[in-house]
This record gives sequence, C-alpha cells and structure tokens, in this order.
Amino acid sequence: MIQKILKITGMTCPSCASGIEKDLNTLAGVSIKVDYDQSRAELTFPAADYSLQQLIDKIQAHGYHVEMLDDTASQSSPENASCCNNSNAQQKPQHIAIIGTGSAAFACALKAVENGAEVTLIEKKPIIGGTCVNIGCVPSKIMIRAAHIAHLQKDHPFPGIKKQKPVINRKQLLTQQQARVDELRAAKYENILENNANIRLKKGAAQFKDAHTLIIENDTGHEEITADKILIATGSAPFIPDIPGLAETPYWTSTEALTSPKIPETLAVLGSSIVALELAQAYQRLGTQVIVLARHTLMYHEDPEIGQALEKAFKQEGMIILTNTQTESVHYHKHLIRGSKFAIKTSHGEIHSDQLLVATGRAPNTATLNLQQIGVKTAKNGVILVNNQMQTNVADIYAAGDCSNLPQFVYVAAAAGTRAGINMTGGHAEIDLSAMPAVMFTDPQMATAGLTEADAKQQQIETESRVLTLDNVPRALANFDTQGFIKLVINKHTRQLIGAQIVAAEAGEMIQTVVLAIHNNMTVEDLAAKLFPYLTMVEGIKLCAQTFNKDVKELSCCAG
Ligand SMILES: Cc1cc2nc3c(=O)[nH]c(=O)nc-3n(C[C@H](O)[C@H](O)[C@H](O)COP(=O)(O)OP(=O)(O)OC[C@H]3O[C@@H](n4cnc5c(N)ncnc54)[C@H](O)[C@@H]3O)c2cc1C
Repeated sequence: MIQKILKITGMTCPSCASGIEKDLNTLAGVSIKVDYDQSRAELTFPAADYSLQQLIDKIQAHGYHVEMLDDTASQSSPENASCCNNSNAQQKPQHIAIIGTGSAAFACALKAVENGAEVTLIEKKPIIGGTCVNIGCVPSKIMIRAAHIAHLQKDHPFPGIKKQKPVINRKQLLTQQQARVDELRAAKYENILENNANIRLKKGAAQFKDAHTLIIENDTGHEEITADKILIATGSAPFIPDIPGLAETPYWTSTEALTSPKIPETLAVLGSSIVALELAQAYQRLGTQVIVLARHTLMYHEDPEIGQALEKAFKQEGMIILTNTQTESVHYHKHLIRGSKFAIKTSHGEIHSDQLLVATGRAPNTATLNLQQIGVKTAKNGVILVNNQMQTNVADIYAAGDCSNLPQFVYVAAAAGTRAGINMTGGHAEIDLSAMPAVMFTDPQMATAGLTEADAKQQQIETESRVLTLDNVPRALANFDTQGFIKLVINKHTRQLIGAQIVAAEAGEMIQTVVLAIHNNMTVEDLAAKLFPYLTMVEGIKLCAQTFNKDVKELSCCAG
C-alpha cells in the first residue's frame, strides 16, 4: 500500500471534503480522510491498482487543487500498515475478531488483512461460508435454472417444437447442485483461509463477555479471546411465525426445500416475498402443485404493479395464489397413509398439502450474542443498528450483513463487510444504498433500483413516470414472451432518473443499466439518446425513456 499526505485547496465547505471522500473511498482498496479545516488529506491506496496521479486527477476533477506534502511513498506491509491506528509503525498489528464466516465476514477479513490487521474468524457451524454459498443464493439459483429447463420442455411458445413432460431425476439434480456448492465454497472461502496466514478460524458459537472479549463455546469446552475491534456478521435464519400447531409439524424452511430429495405432489408456501416466490415457482416447474398463501399481495412492499404482473404470470403456469389470506393454524396428520398430511386453516378455508414451506422472512442471528450486556443497540426485531460506516453505538464494535439493519442481499453484506474492514483499520468508507439494485429470480424476474413513486412522494419529490409493457420491446416480441413491464420514475423538475421497477425475463441483467444511470445523475433524455444494442431486453429501458417525450406507437423499429 502507498500512503501519501496531500494538501487540497479550493474546498469551500466541509461537504467538499466529504464529497472527495465519497468519491475516492468507493474505489477498491483506496482510503482517503480529508480534513477540511486543515486542507489536508491522508491517502492510502494499493500501488498495483492505481497510480497517485490517477487519484489526484480524480480529486482535481472536482475543481480543487492538489499538492503533495510528503514525497516518500511508503509501502505498507501487513506488519506496519496504517490500519493499526498507531503512529508507531513497529507496534503489534491490530487484532480484529469477526463472528461469522459468511460474505460480510470474509469481505471484512480480506480488507482488514490487506490493511495490516490480524483476523480471527469464528464459526459455529461445521462448514464455513454462511448462507449464500451453502443454503442460499447459489443452490437456489441452480435449482431455479434446472426447473426453468424442465418448464421449457413442457411449455414454450414455439408450436414447431414438440412439448413434452420432463423426466426429472431429483437425486441427480441434487448431486450436481451440491457439487457446484462445494466447488464454490472451496474457491471462495476455504482456499482463502488456507492461503492467508493472517486469517485464522476458530470453531464454536461466540458471545460477548465485554466489548473487547468474546467467549467461544464448542463441544470441547469454551475459551476467551480478546480483540481490538469486533465485527458481528452472524447473518440471519428463517423467521418462523407464531401460528398455532406449526411448531409441531415437519414444515420446511428454504434450507430443506433446497435439499429435499422428494418433489411433493402438493406444496403450500407461506410467504410472498423473494425466497418464497423463487422456491414456489421452482417446485411448480418441477411438477408440484404449489399453493401460495400470501398475507397481502405478492411482493407487498414493492410497487403494486409488480405483484399484479407476477400473480398473472404465476397463475398462467398453474400455481394457485391466495392473496390477503391469513393462516390461522396448521395441523399435521402424521398417521395418514395416503393423501395430504398438512391441514392448514386459513381465512379462506382449509388447505391440504403434502408439504408446507415457511418462507416468511429472515430474522437476525443476534439473540445469543449477549448484546444487551455490552449495550449494543438493536431494533425491536433484533437487527443491530449501524450507521453508514457499519459502526454500532458501542466503540470498536461493528456489524454488517443480514444481522444488521441493512437490506438482506449478499452483495450488500459483502460491500458492508469491506467498508467495515476499511473503517476498522483506520480508513474511512461509507455504504451508499441510494441506487441499490434488488432482483428476484423468478420467471419473469423482478428487478428494482432507486425510488418507487411512493418512496419519492414520501421524500416530497415530485415525479413523472412511464410504464412500457413488454409487447413494445422487440426482443420480447422475438422471444414470444411479452410478460411484464418496465417502469421508470424521474424527478419532474430535474428530469433525472430516480428509480425503476421491472418485471421481465431478463430484469436482473437490465437493472444495472438503471443503477449506473441513477448513480451518474442521468436525465431521462440522456438515457433515451444513448445507443442500446437492438434486440436486447435492456433496450426496453431506452424505449421506456423515450416514452417520456413521445407516444410509444410513434417510435420507429429500433428507436434511434
Ligand atoms: C434461499 C435464499 C436465497 C438467496 N438468494 C440470494 C440471491 O440470489 N442474491 C442475493 O443477493 N442474496 C440472496 N440471499 C440472501 C443472502 O444469502 C444473504 O443476504 C447473505 O448470505 C448474508 O450474508 P451474511 O454474511 O450477513 O450472513 P451469513 O452468510 O448468513 O453468515 C453468517 C454466519 O455466522 C454464523 N454465526 C451465527 N451466529 C454465530 C455465533 N454466535 N458464533 C459463531 N458463528 C455464528 C452462521 O453460522 C453463518 O455461517 C438468499 C438467501 C436465501 C435464504
């Protein structure tokens, strides 16, 4: 790492300093702390990735003038890095303890080690890697893809190709799925541990003794470790609602649904958000009759058009969707030899199914950490409250990922972990969620970024919006798959794009264009004038942008 002290002139207020920090600290490995009063900045960056001039140019692009105050480039090794918050570079490296070994934990560990710290990871489960790779994103996306292929065999829009019932070998699918999970866990987690002498792993469940001491308990007893700083990255677990009878039944959570060798004839799904709907559609496509029990509408927290479009698409595949349905009790007929063993009493009558999947959200793993004793503040549901630098209210204790008050996505967990790693080692980095993408991998997919019209209204932003149905998008027409829509929301006065909601076959791939447009403050007219390749789904975003100034029917074929 290179460290430099810079003099920056031309700043007119403290927010100029934070603007520079915001701009540079988002670059991987770069850390800058700008002191407005002294017109001075401390800059650290990896020499392999950036030149000093590149970074100075970035600051000067804001209109400030930069001079170097020191001209000795110091290459910091793990032993003497600035992270240690010590003016004496020879002092012992800082020790950071991280509870958990998921995405937030590993991102933090790698950054902290890169900045010179020594890290201890603590994991209570027999395998490392946490939710995403083992029981979340990775296996679910493999299962969804397999189910998609099965679906296309029996149902597709080309009459010239014979449709047939897919023959499914679930055991073989599971073996393939698990092999890819194991491979990715080895590549992204286990190998990193093996190759990094400054990260060590301790097995056991951790809890706080005090703000700098953890007690780790495992089968062989317990031990105490102390650390200069501690990151809580304990993730989340399925939330199980308090429904009479439910606890006494062998219901599934997403974990069992992803690994069940049996494809049930009928599956009731409690829940109507991402995890519930992704798995519901996968099972429907593998041959199960799925019944979704939704307390409100599908994807209730999103723009209402999303739930409507998804409900229509899912019903066309034969899924039964019961919206505004309260589940009152669950009974399991253990001794029934034939027929559906689950009897689910709802506000719309009794539902019978062979299996029940409970996917009603995820609760943070914070109950056993002893947080109250050390005074770490949590919300009512147990999530740890952090600021945009991942700091809790207690000095030297940070939190990141699903256990904190951040959105439960793996890329958010990883970004938060990296920023925690920077901040815990003396740098400064903030997480910016203003254009955060969210994707649900159903078919059609749902993807959103930025604000909905309702969000904007709450923030007193006057908006304009347009909805383009997919029968206006050439790629969707060529695919004979026009389910869904693209909705763009702009600030009425500045014309800048502030949000998008998409339901479309490739919505997850399309949304990043919106994220970049929002991030770069593009107006809808800028977006409409850009070149987009013809016969791509993402071209629909340009077409939708054009409808702010033109009737869609007046757009020419590839709408230049
Ligand atoms: C079915 C499913 C599909 C998903 N799909 C996607 C997707 O496609 N895209 C996406 O972005 N996100 C997806 N997610 C969400 C994503 O998996 C999570 O947001 C992410 O994995 C959270 O990472 P984390 O580091 O916060 O926690 P985790 O990865 O859960 O890691 C926490 C670790 O801490 C350990 N731990 C807990 N308490 C203690 C303790 N006291 N002592 C020691 N260790 C402890 C746990 O055992 C665990 O290993 C999905 C989730 C699920 C369930």
